[in-house]
Amino acid sequence: MTLPSKQEVQTQAEAWIAENWTPEITVREWWARLAAAGYASPALPVHAGGLGWPGDLAATVLATLARSNVLGPPGGLGLLLAAPTIATHGTPEQVQQYVRPILDGTAGWCQLFSEPQAGSDLAGLQTRAERDGDEWVITGQKVWTSTAQTADMAMLIARTDADAPKHKGITYFLIDMVQPGIEVRPLREMTGRAVFNEVFLDGARVPHANILGGFNEGWKVTNTTLGFERAGVGHGGATFTAALPGSRAGDLDKAAASFVGAKGPITGGAVGRRHLHALTELARKSGRVNDPLVRQAIARVHTDYEILRFMGWKAKMLPHQRTGVEGNLAKVFNSSAVANARDAANLLLGPEGQLWESDGVAGMFQEMTLFSPAPPIYAGSDQVQRNVIGERALGLPKEPGPAADTPFRELPKN
Ligand SMILES: Cc1cc2nc3c(=O)[nH]c(=O)nc-3n(C[C@H](O)[C@H](O)[C@H](O)COP(=O)(O)OP(=O)(O)OC[C@H]3O[C@@H](n4cnc5c(N)ncnc54)[C@H](O)[C@@H]3O)c2cc1C
Repeated sequence: MTLPSKQEVQTQAEAWIAENWTPEITVREWWARLAAAGYASPALPVHAGGLGWPGDLAATVLATLARSNVLGPPGGLGLLLAAPTIATHGTPEQVQQYVRPILDGTAGWCQLFSEPQAGSDLAGLQTRAERDGDEWVITGQKVWTSTAQTADMAMLIARTDADAPKHKGITYFLIDMVQPGIEVRPLREMTGRAVFNEVFLDGARVPHANILGGFNEGWKVTNTTLGFERAGVGHGGATFTAALPGSRAGDLDKAAASFVGAKGPITGGAVGRRHLHALTELARKSGRVNDPLVRQAIARVHTDYEILRFMGWKAKMLPHQRTGVEGNLAKVFNSSAVANARDAANLLLGPEGQLWESDGVAGMFQEMTLFSPAPPIYAGSDQVQRNVIGERALGLPKEPGPAADTPFRELPKN
């Protein structure tokens, strides 16, 4: 395939936006057009509805959409995680059935991975799947499930063989969230929002045909999803537009223009250009633009932002230099970048940084302050990322633990 240049991609995208965006267009229609053009996720392979473009060209499309003041693609965990995982491991039927509604935003997805006793030790999960004819019956509990309350579908991992070693008896399912066996209870965070939830599965059903990647092959598929998650969180994390995808979220038939510039459900998880501009604005307004401590704090945020940009660029552009842990490194680095931006803002805001929901710049940093403990935890905690970097990239010895072939049934449970 001959690839266009970045300049050509930008020119084509601008012309396409001029032809397709109207102030009255609904979210549903706009996302349908983005999907049909391949612009919802240009990095996905062509057979899955993308353009098969490398990351830098895909990023050029997204940057052009953002600069043009139009609504971005549907976002959320469907586009970030489910679509690329299904494109990698799915049968042609699964790709056909599930990826398109993610790209056009008509289906919202969540990720049923973490459990009360299985977060960092995800392979220790205890949710069970038992075969019943052409279906599997699921029993267990998941937790911290972002956007479960509006999701139509979920990526679910469950234990299908307790006699196999823990990484080998797991199967990955694509499960319908709207059914009697699934109960979702929102958990309110200190930001005031309830992005994540507890999910109780009690006799929930999923067809055998919805196994992704093979029976008992779920750990391999899970690692594909986790790889996309780390890389997505590390390289920007801007995976949520203000409009939520899916038939249950209620945004599809609203005007797309009403969401442009509005706050999404997660706004404090990454450092962007707007944070840098806002910090400079705060420094000017408070008359502290020449204060060496303030200048140093802003310079550090600027440096972090640039380093993250270059890390992303390297991961996308220089495949021969990849170590395999780019996503882990970016994920850890992003956590400290968010903390540095939070601290710089609070240095300038003083007590105002503790006010609740003030508008504009102060409000943006208040939310970042309250959300900032999350990035070091989600997508696998920073400590666990460091373990992975140590073992896989630096060749350090593995953490001690039971022999890898011990059946799950015989392992001590948390
Ligand atoms: C905002 C947010 C959204 C989330 N969304 C989702 C979602 O949509 N779906 C989903 O499935 N999950 C989600 N999660 C869950 C997230 O993936 C887990 O919280 C994370 O993997 C950590 O697991 P845990 O909370 O069980 O902590 P634990 O695993 O109990 O860890 C507790 C502490 O011990 C440390 N620790 C544990 N093991 C080791 C080790 N081997 N070496 C060194 N330190 C260790 C950890 O770093 C951590 O500091 C979300 C979390 C947050 C905060």
